[in-house]
Parts: sequence; C-alpha cells; structure tokens
Amino acid sequence: MVCLWGLKFILKYRHSRYHIWRTVVLMICQLFLAFLIPEILEGLNQEQAYFAKDLKFFWPLNYYFFEDWHLNAMAEGGSMGMFYLVWGIALFLLVTPILTYFLGKRWYCSWVCGCGGLAETAGDPFRHLSDKRLSAWKLERWLIHGVLVYIFVVTAVVLYGYFSNQSQIFGIDIYTWFRKPYGFLIGAAFSGVIGVGFYPLLGSRVWCRFGCPLAAYMGIFQRFKSRFRITTNGGQCISCGNCSTYCEQGIDVRWYAQRGQNIVRSSCVGCGVCSSVCPRGVLKLENGPEQDRINDKPILIGRDDVRLL
Ligand code: SF4
Ligand code: SF4
Repeated sequence: MVCLWGLKFILKYRHSRYHIWRTVVLMICQLFLAFLIPEILEGLNQEQAYFAKDLKFFWPLNYYFFEDWHLNAMAEGGSMGMFYLVWGIALFLLVTPILTYFLGKRWYCSWVCGCGGLAETAGDPFRHLSDKRLSAWKLERWLIHGVLVYIFVVTAVVLYGYFSNQSQIFGIDIYTWFRKPYGFLIGAAFSGVIGVGFYPLLGSRVWCRFGCPLAAYMGIFQRFKSRFRITTNGGQCISCGNCSTYCEQGIDVRWYAQRGQNIVRSSCVGCGVCSSVCPRGVLKLENGPEQDRINDKPILIGRDDVRLL
C-alpha cells in the first residue's frame, strides 16, 4: 500500500528529481527496514526480528527503547542485541545531530520516517488544510516541546526503575503512571489516531508538527545549528500564495518570500513542495555555509522599506 501511494506521489511530482528521489528512498526504507527484513528474520526464527525495525526507529520516537523488557532483550540478544543497543544510542546522540547539521531535519522527516512518508503520500491531498494561524504556531511550540520534555521525564524514571530494580518512584508506580500513559496518550492516541485519522480535518502533518519528540529534537538543531535553509528570491515573488497554502507544516512561506528572507524554521521538514508549487522559482532548499543562512538585509516591499527580523 505504501508503495502504491508512493508511486502516485511520484507521478504527481514527476517533474521534480528531488521528489522522485526522496519518495523512492522513503519506499525502500518502509519496504525493507520496516517490513521485509523483520518479516524475513521472523520467518527464519531469528530472535532479532523485532529489533530490525529499530535500525531507523529510535528514541525518542521509539519510546519503549529504554524500557526494561527491551533493554533485557537486547542484553540477552548476543552481539546483534548489543549492536542494536549501540546503534540506537548512536543514532540519537551522534547521527541525528550530524546529519541535521548538514542537511536539516529533512534527512529523516522527508526521506526516512514512516510517519512522514505516510503524511507525504497518503496525506498529500490534505496538506493544504494545515492551520496557518499564529495561534497554531504558538500551540505547536508548546505542544511539541512539551512532548519532548515528557519523554525525557518518562525515560529517566523508567531507567531509574531499571537500574535500581524498583517498580516505584516516590511511592508512585512507574508502569501505571509513567510508561502506560505515555504509550497510550502519545504513542497511540496522538501519533496514531489524531496523527493519521485526522488528516482530512487538520492536514497531513499533525503528528510531525505538534507531537513528534524526534522532530522537536531535530528542530532545535535545525533552528540553531544547521546549514539548512530555504532561500527566497524576493524580487521574483508575485504573492500568489501557493507556497503557504501547500506548506503542510503551516509555515507562511510567502511572508518570507515577499521579503527575500531565508526560511530558517525549526518546524520545516524540507519536503520541498513549497518550491515545487512556486510558479516563479523563488524558493530553493539549500545547505550552504552556516554563517550565511540568516539574511537580514532590508528590501523594498511596495512603498515600505522594511528592516527584517
Ligand atoms: S516550508 Fe516548504 S519545505 Fe518546509 S515544510 Fe513547508 S512546504 Fe515543506
Ligand atoms: S509560490 Fe512563489 S510566487 Fe507564489 S507567493 Fe510563494 S514564493 Fe511568491
């Protein structure tokens, strides 16, 4: 199914090599890493079968990575178990910051992630429904960083329980009050029910925009320490608004384009659709030198000379 949606997306954006390549990579990641390799290992009765998907599904998105049963399974899984443990930690601590520095969070959100892949393909007809209001942006910042803090707290408590061999902390049951609510509220209800089921109401990237702790983590790097930016050739912009309409992350791209200001936003997933739907070729996704990514020169807008933020 994921391949059919992917092919439909490729057909729609066939004029763009960027969309063709990222969709092919997304399909390969889903087909092989999420389904075929775990299935084949399971068919061969390999104990590592359920770890295989961890190759691209890591903490904090994979919220059970540090839970006792998962840690025990990896510890008892021999060299492969150890590999998955080290790989999972390295992805979070090293690979993600390095790749996000060079490429922005798009390397994961738009090229690898299953949630992002579903949003890009099955959710494509709904991308224009993302809320563009300032209030939505404020809510987004509170919610997504709130979830990031939430998973840090839950994981710290779970690790405390694991290493101290305790089922409670300050008299509070860890499973009932930490692991279970996070799994239900964030892991199932938010990412699954709201994140996918509400595409036709809230747009295609509700989970990625408001709830994903990994997106929040990468967004911090993208905003403050990354080479990624979308450059805008403001003089060419005709203010048609296509870019803002089709931004699934609710970014008012036109606002930046009119001012010739680079877009450096933590929420941008680098899908590139704003660039593809622009009739004037104003927008370009780039990874140039870090010091040049924020431009603040004044440009002329109508009769007003505006000093940019
Ligand atoms: S600003 Fe452009 S590249 Fe970024 S999320 Fe929006 S549409 Fe995608
Ligand atoms: S789609 Fe292009 S021309 Fe239209 S508002 Fe956006 S940047 Fe300007």
